[in-house]
Amino acid sequence: MSYVSEVLQNLIEKNLGENLFHQAATEVLESIAPVVEATPAYEKAGILERLTEPDRAILFRVPWVDDQGVVRVNKGYRVQFNNAIGPYKGGLRLHPSVNLGVIKFLGFEQIFKNSLTGLPIGGGKGGSDFDPKGKSDREVMAFCQSFMTELYKYIGADVDVPAGDIGVGAREIGFLYGQYKRITGLYEGVLTGKGLTYGGSLARTQATGYGLVYLMNEMLATKGETFKGKTVVVSGAGNVAIYAAEKATTLGGKVVAMCDSTGWIYDAEGVDLKAIKQIKEVERKRLREYKNYRPNAEYHEDGVIWDVPCDIALPCATQNELHADHAATLIKNGVFAVGEGANMPSTPDAIHAFQSAGVLFAPAKAANAGGVATSALEMSQNSQRLSWTFEEVDAKLHGIMVGIFNQMAAAAAKYGHEGDYVVGANIAGFVKVADAMLAQGVV
Ligand code: NDP
Repeated sequence: MSYVSEVLQNLIEKNLGENLFHQAATEVLESIAPVVEATPAYEKAGILERLTEPDRAILFRVPWVDDQGVVRVNKGYRVQFNNAIGPYKGGLRLHPSVNLGVIKFLGFEQIFKNSLTGLPIGGGKGGSDFDPKGKSDREVMAFCQSFMTELYKYIGADVDVPAGDIGVGAREIGFLYGQYKRITGLYEGVLTGKGLTYGGSLARTQATGYGLVYLMNEMLATKGETFKGKTVVVSGAGNVAIYAAEKATTLGGKVVAMCDSTGWIYDAEGVDLKAIKQIKEVERKRLREYKNYRPNAEYHEDGVIWDVPCDIALPCATQNELHADHAATLIKNGVFAVGEGANMPSTPDAIHAFQSAGVLFAPAKAANAGGVATSALEMSQNSQRLSWTFEEVDAKLHGIMVGIFNQMAAAAAKYGHEGDYVVGANIAGFVKVADAMLAQGVV
């Protein structure tokens, strides 16, 4: 049995039930096999065994009191996966589906994504099964303060720097930061995604979505294409989806469909993003409200958004939201390019279908790396006690996304998989981390 297969088999046996972690690790390990086989020093140093076992996983109780005076208890997680190239960095997710396997899959992916940015950041992820939906601001604050009362022991500006993810936006980061500062007395860049009045970076809110479109633009250019005149479908209506839709629209694309976890909208004239921002960012309501702004648009709770014909599909909601049958429909309807804004939104079968059909496919760890890259730029600004302009940060983000595209394209070509950006992103992300681990000895 090959070294890669042996490590994968052990991983599956020793992490029973963590299916999403198995899925993420299988994709990465299978696609880096050529470079692992070509570099015996990796096996000798146990790089894959060490890379697939987190440095540590912290599990804790999060007790808080709801508005009725009832004591509630949630599970808290922080997985510090690998800090070979920099302090642990990765978001916090608040969603009822969160468990250790989810956080491990996200933390593992984060190692390679962060490496691809070219910035000095290691991989980590955290969160809780707390559901912020339907909770009052006071309840969210009570939860965040309790969560940070335990988490603060394990993080720091040079140790581990969490950020937002699903269910964690500016409001939650504010409450978390306030509690960290209160307990430690430190005013340091321990979280990113902060508000602009207390150390946040301009363009961080837009970064993941904008970065996705910047990278897609590079990929489209290899076929002499651009966003101009293209029909675009974006799943999700959260942070990543909104700003991906915004940048795609600015570049001349027409976004005709978006969704939330209850339903999806179709607007033949192009989605009104001001209305979406009002509904989702300001009022925190459901997407069905969209018809109040655009009566001619359609709202559906049945069927799936991937039935809408498009040239470019950007899955920006959640993991495994795009299955093989959805991919088949998209291909039948003539999809030209797919870019993953969410983490692991396409199942392995769906990715295979896209690639076999010759659809341009940008994998998440490259395509959505703009968010964490800009978080690292926020860390730099905090360390320097400076704030850069929107244009400066956006220009750096653009340069980073072009760099990521070039790296993954070059790595794919070098190992005989030209145009396979899944293989390219995994290899390019892996090599830097593996070489840093080799240099640092068995730790
Ligand atoms: P948000 O919480 O802001 O938005 C998520 C959106 O997806 C919401 O509109 C949500 O609907 C919708 N959604 C969630 N689950 C489903 C589902 N099963 N079906 C349909 N819609 C669904 O999260 P983000 O935008 O921050 O994150 C989205 C994805 O991007 C995640 O995979 C995240 O890990 C990834 N990501 C985020 C980064 C960031 O900077 N924020 C960086 C890199 C990756 P509803 O409104 O009903 O909850």
